[in-house]
Amino acid sequence: CRSPGRRPSVGCRSPRTHCRAPVPKDRRRIDDEKLLINVSGRRFETWRNTVEKYPDTLLGSNEREFFYDEDCKEYFFDRDPDIFRHILNYYRTGKLHYPKHECLTSYDEELAFFGILPDVIGDCCYEDYRDRKRENAERLMDD
Ligand SMILES: [Zn+2]
Repeated sequence: CRSPGRRPSVGCRSPRTHCRAPVPKDRRRIDDEKLLINVSGRRFETWRNTVEKYPDTLLGSNEREFFYDEDCKEYFFDRDPDIFRHILNYYRTGKLHYPKHECLTSYDEELAFFGILPDVIGDCCYEDYRDRKRENAERLMDD
């Protein structure tokens, strides 16, 4: 660099490495890495291997890259963080629980968004879910 005041965009000939982010290490194919997932401001952390257990879902496939925020180095979802907790737990435990206090419709919407089928709801919660679903359908029919 010569005098920084004069035409800095053209004049600076120094190697631009200092302007660039460090070389990504992903070429080295690390076994696992931590993923930062920001859901409406609430941050969750998990391992890449954990979400890739279910490759047919949004988080488990490279569909998630669409939600990657380069600047913050995290995935950002403008979704319900309370329900997301249950979704992330599904990846960890293989069981999906249905939080009874949540509205069934919004729960279903979150599942659909993340590409998870309600079939995977655990036996512990399945009956509640099914009953709620039936009640809901009846209520909608009354309208
Ligand atoms: Zn349960």
